[in-house]
Amino acid sequence: MPELTPVLDTDAIARKVDEVARQISSDYRNADLVIIGVLKGAFVFMADLIRRLDLSHVAVDFIRLASYGSQSNSSGHIRLLKNFEIDIEGKHVLIVEDILDTGWTLAFLKQHLSAYSPRSLKTCVLVDKRERRKVDVQAEYVCHVANEGFLVGYGLDYDENYRNLPGIFNLKL
Ligand code: 5GP
Ligand code: MG
Repeated sequence: MPELTPVLDTDAIARKVDEVARQISSDYRNADLVIIGVLKGAFVFMADLIRRLDLSHVAVDFIRLASYGSQSNSSGHIRLLKNFEIDIEGKHVLIVEDILDTGWTLAFLKQHLSAYSPRSLKTCVLVDKRERRKVDVQAEYVCHVANEGFLVGYGLDYDENYRNLPGIFNLKL
């Protein structure tokens, strides 16, 4: 049986999301912002984050990627399954991603989105796994830093399960 160990409960998540929402609200004051969420993992985080932003001009869109790899590891082979639809040329764009691990996914996203000439491009992640980085990419906004283990819950899945858990857990397979 897979074993779930609590990592962050709903209160801890809310505090971290609040803090990052405050930083984003302050950095993008008076700016038009387009937030692009990476499906599916970021959908719960993004729903909470956008409702805490104190900004009057926020547009929201989604992108969906597939990475060939095992169930718990991404690989350098990333494919676009669904592109965003809003025009981002000349706009401030914020990518919202669930987990930054090797960096392959974010490197792909940054390159892909840059081709549409946004005015600025930054990234907000729920979890940053810094120790496993393979590509030199960073997120400007990070809710939580984790070093080991495979996380599920709060939108994060293992084989499409556990996304509905309100907290974040370490899954021991
Ligand atoms: P990267 O390309 O940075 O190695 O991987 C990022 C992607 O791998 C994330 O978007 C996420 O989908 C997946 N991933 C990496 N670590 C975890 C984890 O601990 N739990 C889950 N559910 N997905 C992960
Ligand atoms: Mg993902």
